[in-house]
Amino acid sequence: MAELPQGAAAVPEDVQSNVLLTTIDWIYNTGRTFSLWPMTFGLACCAIEFIVAGTARYDLSRFGMEVIRPSPRQCDLLLVSGTVTKKMVVPIVRLYNQMAEPRYVVSMGACATGGGPFKEGYNVVSGIDKFLPVDVYVPGCPPTPEALLNGFIALQQKIKKQSVRTVPWYRKDYTGEIPIPVLGPDIFGTAPDDMKRVREVGLNRTMAARAAGKLTIAELHYQGADEYVVIRNSGLAQDMTGWRLTSGQGDQSYAFPAGFVLMPDAELRVHSGPGAAAPAANDQVWTRQPVWHNEGDAATILDADGNVVSSFSYKGS
Ligand code: SF4
Repeated sequence: MAELPQGAAAVPEDVQSNVLLTTIDWIYNTGRTFSLWPMTFGLACCAIEFIVAGTARYDLSRFGMEVIRPSPRQCDLLLVSGTVTKKMVVPIVRLYNQMAEPRYVVSMGACATGGGPFKEGYNVVSGIDKFLPVDVYVPGCPPTPEALLNGFIALQQKIKKQSVRTVPWYRKDYTGEIPIPVLGPDIFGTAPDDMKRVREVGLNRTMAARAAGKLTIAELHYQGADEYVVIRNSGLAQDMTGWRLTSGQGDQSYAFPAGFVLMPDAELRVHSGPGAAAPAANDQVWTRQPVWHNEGDAATILDADGNVVSSFSYKGS
């Protein structure tokens, strides 16, 4: 007979077949593992896969998860399925706070985990784990119902390893309350002050983009009967009314047509010389005379106020 731990009492032989000895943790964990109740909650396309996982084909009852409840007060599993926008993250955190402990969070799909295909979107949160403690991540776009079940099993395995002595929710000082996100410059409400702040942020960004982007003379082709200057726009759409292109010592100049707008990432060519032609939509014909003669002469763009926007030196043939 195996030696008993110190202080343990032996179970009499005649009742051994009627007694089950186990740990409190096993009972505690088994109860929670097989009665996880997810919340009826979805954000985007991933939610459809969650719905499919709830059909008879996948039989969530096997995991004790078929009771999908419509109230956070009755749930202990928050499945974040879909794109989390900055507007929606506020109610998501509120719902989480309304769930009783112990509670678990599964991040389903690329969007909930890191923003997914919309990561660079102005309105998208790049991961729900920036706000909530996530227990299991399910990869995919969208994850299949099988992948979701695998995530549930991973969560069950995690729950089975917890101990009632160390879980945080029985500590005296533990609240588990997550602060509701404060609406920042990008997360805006409809209050007048919020809208004013959003407009200010938008205006500042537009001005910064306008300052960063500009028109440049990228190339100067001076050989052959058709000479041309290539001008590129790396900034916002630019109205070139009143703008000029000068050559040589600035003694010759070409005025861009009134109302001519060069769009972002577009380019324009200004042709000169006896073979000057304008084959593309943005192309302009300056003159039938050659204008690039002397090495060191510069092609220069001047804006309507006469400020130099860009300059390019002629290197000679
Ligand atoms: S991860 Fe893919 S399927 Fe899921 S919500 Fe995002 S875009 Fe839709």
